[in-house]
Amino acid sequence: MILLDGKATSKAIKEEIAAEVNARRERGLKTPHLAAVLIGEDGASQTYVSSKVKACERIGFVSSLIRKPSSTSQEELLQIVQELNEDDDIDGFIVQLPLPKHIDEQEVLLAIDPSKDVDGFHPENVGRMALGLPCYLPATPYGIMQLLERYEVPTSGKNCVVIGRSHIVGSPMSILLSQNNEPGNCTVTLTHSRTQNLESIVKNADILVVALGKAEFVTGDMVKEGAVVIDVGITRVPDASKERGYRIAGDVDFASVSEKCSFITPVPGGVGPMTIASLLKNTLQAAGDKRN
Ligand code: NAP
Repeated sequence: MILLDGKATSKAIKEEIAAEVNARRERGLKTPHLAAVLIGEDGASQTYVSSKVKACERIGFVSSLIRKPSSTSQEELLQIVQELNEDDDIDGFIVQLPLPKHIDEQEVLLAIDPSKDVDGFHPENVGRMALGLPCYLPATPYGIMQLLERYEVPTSGKNCVVIGRSHIVGSPMSILLSQNNEPGNCTVTLTHSRTQNLESIVKNADILVVALGKAEFVTGDMVKEGAVVIDVGITRVPDASKERGYRIAGDVDFASVSEKCSFITPVPGGVGPMTIASLLKNTLQAAGDKRN
């Protein structure tokens, strides 16, 4: 079994980006600038946004964090988005999800200038991704594709099963892995909560991408011998033995599944760090696309 080490791979990618930032500076080009908008006080969102901001600082990007209370109205948020769209110094920005219930997420995502949409959630970027055109790929699927590429995991002709059809993970993964590309060229089955006989479908998977948000859902008995297993899940499971009162669990029972598979991502240290590295890659691309 080979561990798909997202921590080490993301470190290597961040070093490559930092070198590129230096090279840009030497050529007199502007330093890439990523802005993040955080609405409300959700603990997990605060953690995600602060790791994104810290990662920017470490690799030499400029970063801005715009924090607003959960009482922020839709109009106020749309105004912030408009200002970020018009600010020439900002190459890309993200609006951290989920947003408070009174805000229409789709309307906010639609308001983001697609050329600054480094999360890759705008319909223009999603459409371009589906057509295989240049675009900003959503960060988590992009990170998984880079892991597969850098570890030279064979994908062509493989049976791939994706569990979960969210717009940010499962659905784009199914599109990317079925495209005529390398990695890609899989025969993909996209499954969800209405799927019948999930276990027998999973058992046929040469490559299994698990993104449903249920701790340790996939167990060793469900997985084919030699499968490649990508665990996207991040769930806080109460654990009194930990100082913070919980542990982070993936959607895969690592102990039983790792015994059977050829490649597997750990949680933590697998897909999570790759997501941040991909966001930084998209931001560098956004700065490059503006040729400034
Ligand atoms: P989501 O929006 O909650 O979607 C979950 C998907 O799983 C849905 O499509 C749902 O089906 C499906 N599902 C639920 N129960 C199922 C079952 N019993 N059998 C088969 N399918 C089932 O999830 P998400 O945003 O994609 O996130 C999934 C997990 O990944 C979460 O733990 C999240 O924290 C984690 N995540 C991690 C990263 C990272 O960087 N590592 C990034 C994003 C998300 P329906 O569509 O029918 O409801």
